[in-house]
Amino acid sequence: MVRVRFAPSPTGHLHIGGARTAIFNWLFARGKKGKFILRIEDTDRSRSTEEYIEEILDSMRWLGLDWDEGPYRQTDRLSIYTMEAERLIKEGKAYYCWCSPEELEEIKEEMRKKCGIPKYDGRCRNRCAPKSGVKPVVRFKVDNEGYTVFKDIIRGEIVYPNNQLDDFIIVRSDGIPTYNFVVVVDDALMGITHVIRGEDHINNTPKQIQLYKALGYPIPQFAHVPMILGPDRKKLSKRHGAVSVRAYREEGILPEALFNFLVRLGWSYGDREIFNKEELIELFRLEDVGKSPAVYNYEKLLWLNHYYIKNTDIDRLSDLYAEFLVKEGILKEEELPPKEYIRDVVIVFKERARTVKEMVEHSLFLYKEVESYDESGVEKFFNPDKISYLESVLDELERIDELTPEKIEELFNNVIKRHNIKLKDIAQTVRLAITGRTVSPGLVEIILLTGKEKLVKRIKKAIDFIKSRGV
Ligand code: GLU
Repeated sequence: MVRVRFAPSPTGHLHIGGARTAIFNWLFARGKKGKFILRIEDTDRSRSTEEYIEEILDSMRWLGLDWDEGPYRQTDRLSIYTMEAERLIKEGKAYYCWCSPEELEEIKEEMRKKCGIPKYDGRCRNRCAPKSGVKPVVRFKVDNEGYTVFKDIIRGEIVYPNNQLDDFIIVRSDGIPTYNFVVVVDDALMGITHVIRGEDHINNTPKQIQLYKALGYPIPQFAHVPMILGPDRKKLSKRHGAVSVRAYREEGILPEALFNFLVRLGWSYGDREIFNKEELIELFRLEDVGKSPAVYNYEKLLWLNHYYIKNTDIDRLSDLYAEFLVKEGILKEEELPPKEYIRDVVIVFKERARTVKEMVEHSLFLYKEVESYDESGVEKFFNPDKISYLESVLDELERIDELTPEKIEELFNNVIKRHNIKLKDIAQTVRLAITGRTVSPGLVEIILLTGKEKLVKRIKKAIDFIKSRGV
């Protein structure tokens, strides 16, 4: 039975790199009908917060990453780690170290000169006497001989010279155990069969393997997932823009788009780009995760999101759009138009929008006065000879009680005939008058959504504006 875990440290938002690790674990577990366990690694008490824990869980739920066990919290398990550390001490596999910070500095300097690595020299292995005024740490007796060899599912065989290692600390002087120790105890006691995590932990693996052996635990399989790089090929960070799952959510990226995007950062299946979760569960294999780092491409995420926006259920998208209207401060909850209207707006605007936020931006003119007109549009479509055309539009509008696609078509036909012009001589002018922009969905659609009353006002306003320019 496959058992995998995702083990975030709640010292920040859920980063997309972390989310991708969670996704790979989840897909692997689901594909193998195994278990996906969530463990919060909160032993760094000064940097871990409840808010981050909540947010990580929330981001995971949003991405649809359900877990079968947990969330376990390491701070609830401290007594287990203490017990295991004591066991190692009793068995002579770990020892108290009384070296003071000054002494450690000296040792490291000495070792740097001697072997090029500033490591601990193991002197407390044989020192039994406590030193007054120093709270001891517990160090693990590392085997410095030979090599640690393991087969990484993604990276193949890894050979690590053990002389690189020193007797590392497993319990700090404040009694809190360190990452390398607790991760091994937890992974072993939780029956983890495959450790799938970021490549930044590859150098920890030899230490952990020695701990597994010393503790008498079976060693799991490892799969280290390559880093995500920014477009400049440096490690992805805030410099490159949004990196937290939350930030993408706030942009109006759909969870299935982010999921699909993240899976493809490092994993591929031919040159196919679009996959739903069921397909991924079926197709995902750790062996198909590439060895080289994946390069992040925001445009591609937008492209995927656009695809999912166009293809998602209209009611769901309408709810999301309404939520964004409120969140972005465009309307208050109680000012939201009826559901039917929102639905019609969404049907029209989803075709061009790459994010839900863009949908809101593009449709802003439906809720807000047009404060300004696109400058190049004004030059091209607001010249004085348009005034009489717009006045004809107003005349025609007066004769219409209720706007329908047919009536709108008839209206334009009449205006065109009256002035002996073409539709293109008036369409952009009306679009600019209604939206303030030169690009929008179809004119008929936006006229219907704007409604007669607002339409009249906007056209009058445009006429006044053109007159005031006095060109
Ligand atoms: N808490 C560690 C991290 O967030 C987990 C590492 C691991 O998966 O072993 O990087």
